[in-house]
Amino acid sequence: MKHKQVFNQMSPYKPGKQVEEVKKELGLDRIVKLASNENPFGYSEKVDQVVTESANHFEIYPDGYATVLRDVISTDLAVDFDQLVFGCGSDEVIDIICRVYLEKGTNTIMATPTFPQYKHNALIQGADIKEVPLLNGYHDLQGMLDVIDDDTRVIWLCSPNNPTGCIINQPSLERFLEVVPEDIIVVMDEAYYEYINRDDAPDSLSYINTYPNLVVLRTFSKAYGLAGLRVGFGVCDLAVANVLNIARGPFNTTKLAQFAATEAYRDQEFIKRTVSETIKNKQTFIQFLDEMELDYYDSETNFVLVKLPVSGDELFDYLLSKGFIIRSGEALGIPNSVRITIGEKTDMDMMQQHIRTFLGTIAKEEGE
Ligand SMILES: *Cc1c(COP(=O)(O)O)cnc(C)c1O
Repeated sequence: MKHKQVFNQMSPYKPGKQVEEVKKELGLDRIVKLASNENPFGYSEKVDQVVTESANHFEIYPDGYATVLRDVISTDLAVDFDQLVFGCGSDEVIDIICRVYLEKGTNTIMATPTFPQYKHNALIQGADIKEVPLLNGYHDLQGMLDVIDDDTRVIWLCSPNNPTGCIINQPSLERFLEVVPEDIIVVMDEAYYEYINRDDAPDSLSYINTYPNLVVLRTFSKAYGLAGLRVGFGVCDLAVANVLNIARGPFNTTKLAQFAATEAYRDQEFIKRTVSETIKNKQTFIQFLDEMELDYYDSETNFVLVKLPVSGDELFDYLLSKGFIIRSGEALGIPNSVRITIGEKTDMDMMQQHIRTFLGTIAKEEGE
């Protein structure tokens, strides 16, 4: 079988450790997963209601246009019905963008490290990848502008950036959009949009009318707590949305997911509670890090990337043995760090105790 050459250098996505697997391995009753930036508070109660009451007739295909969900979101965001493109997670919208705009002979620009799916899908389309290193966790926008050439088709901005949590502020985004040639797609991936708590954060959607090359991505997987149902969407100019919709599979979001996302979106009270609890717990965690004299990246998300004096794998292994799953920075392209999702207060307190003990052990080893 002669598949595309590029697959020889790629491997399937390795998911983080599964809770059940770790429970069995360690013989623990309870595992706290703070590895994938999921919502520890779950999702709106209204979702369960509607899913049991309304989601039936699974023999019928879903509404490929996601009309009800489209209506609720387009009204709220004050954009045209047809400016939305839904996907099986924003992951799928990323893939669709790559399929529409990238091919052999073109190139695409992104930060490094950033969300890995931009590169993954771009490689499959045969595009060249131009990676511009972050500056202390922030996008180097000038560096990205400097590498644009005639073959550049898509630029990826991840704000807040995964895995660092840093945002692109309004003046920087404005200047960037002003300078980027208008025939290059600029994707602003805002998977953690709901968590941003900064006055200088841009209202990205307000730029779509001025910059028809801008695509803003949002998802139901993070603050909305629906990662298991897979819904995300892009907001963009009508012409761009039209092509993306041609490339989209006709029934790419399920009936169940559409129902759930619609209810979840209507319950903004839940989002408010999630965000305020998360920010409170993050502040406590950051105070703890300061006390421990551990450095960290500025985060406008529900996770913090913490710098360590040792490999991230060491703290990962230690916390795993205590029943906490986090992400080692080694796997994320930032050695000597860990990415920790902000969880519920009691879990965070307990994890902090373990980190304190861990740091004591390594300090002692150094002293010996
Ligand atoms: C989690 C995440 C996504 C993917 O979200 P899905 O909608 O679940 O596919 C996209 N971008 C970033 C930066 C993320 O962290």
